Amino acid sequence: MSRAPRDDEAAASPAAARHPDTLAVGFGHDPQQAFGAVKPPVMLTSTFAYPSAAAAKQAHRDYFDGAAPGRDAAFIYARLDHPNLAVLEKRFAALEGAEEAAAFASGMAAISAILLAFLKPGDSALHTSPLYGGTHGLLHGPIAGIGVTPVAIGDAVDPASVAAAAETAARHGPVGLIFAETPANPTNGLADIALLARTADALAERQGGRRPLVVVDNTFLGSLLQAPLTHGADLAMTSLTKYAGGHSDLIGGAVSGSKAMVGPLRRLRTLLGSHLDPFTSWLALRSLETFPLRNRRANANAAIVAAFLRDHPKVTGVSYLGFLAAGTPARAVFDRQCAGAGSTFSFRIRGGESEAFALLDRLQVFRMAVSLGGTESLICHSASTTHYSVPPEIRRQVGVDDSTLRISIGIEHPDDLVADLASALDAIP
Ligand SMILES: *Cc1c(COP(=O)(O)O)cnc(C)c1O
Repeated sequence: MSRAPRDDEAAASPAAARHPDTLAVGFGHDPQQAFGAVKPPVMLTSTFAYPSAAAAKQAHRDYFDGAAPGRDAAFIYARLDHPNLAVLEKRFAALEGAEEAAAFASGMAAISAILLAFLKPGDSALHTSPLYGGTHGLLHGPIAGIGVTPVAIGDAVDPASVAAAAETAARHGPVGLIFAETPANPTNGLADIALLARTADALAERQGGRRPLVVVDNTFLGSLLQAPLTHGADLAMTSLTKYAGGHSDLIGGAVSGSKAMVGPLRRLRTLLGSHLDPFTSWLALRSLETFPLRNRRANANAAIVAAFLRDHPKVTGVSYLGFLAAGTPARAVFDRQCAGAGSTFSFRIRGGESEAFALLDRLQVFRMAVSLGGTESLICHSASTTHYSVPPEIRRQVGVDDSTLRISIGIEHPDDLVADLASALDAIP
């Protein structure tokens, strides 16, 4: 099995003009390089043999100094790169409309590499709030521990709020990075990516030309509904575990961007040992084939379920993005930045924990589990699960209370999802 097409081949191909549905199915794999196999075989090997000593030297020269344009670099050792990883990265980059992508052992491994590669002691880092628990823990724990000051942005669609946070951060040290999770988990709060990119430009002028990197965690919407790179982000990361993997049977992460941005992450990945293994890469590639199909179905289902919940007397506060009020700054950002509302959102049940638990314990179709983006619909009680370790006052600040439930809508028949919720809601005392 060979590598995916080289960059120059990809650029010369009509890939850029093809639709995601087409790219998702076959891009980056050439059957003639794989015994005619229509699908890429899983290449379970830790190391790769050379036909000659000179070829071994050339492979290492290519890895460390960069391969000459138009020549394939040979594989060396699977922690550096391997065939299943290479084809997954080519296809994922094509779907993201990015020059390059790098896949990691998890979404958190991808975020770890980004923070470690681009922040140094003495820096500050701006971030949206709330953040995914792991990201928050990493930034405020180990990353703060090496001397980086994380500073939260109050409202990332409000220029005054972003400017104030940038002022605060700059007082602590040069701003090395702006990390935006948009939409945020579980509130669906938005960040204006173009505004953050302009903020990075302004900071660059004050920091002697050092421009903070704008990084977007695009896990909630994914590349089909939000393309952060086209709005000025330098890197877009996603947890492959969620929508891209889509079957709740793998853990992985990916980062996309320019070659100049992704290259250092790949080299750091080799040192950290956080590459995605051959079997999981193969599984993730298989998942990508149906990503556009699954995504459309889940999004359509979510619109139906969200409308049902909004109209139900025992439900309040549905955070579905399609319901953002016209004329608000968040709505303007949504209209400009997002091609759809996705299929993960939260709602509040009238009452508190006991009413929420009563609903959860009566559902038959929805599985009660954390995570999101799978073929199956999931539901969880945020305060006692995903946000268990967050102090109650912070939970309230970020809009999570004892009545908050987060749901991720899958690809089942929407009538069954609505019927399941309807009978469970009716049965709440
Ligand atoms: C799940 C998730 C992550 C972490 O991804 P893992 O694959 O679980 O490491 C990061 N950000 C968001 C928004 C997530 O939902």
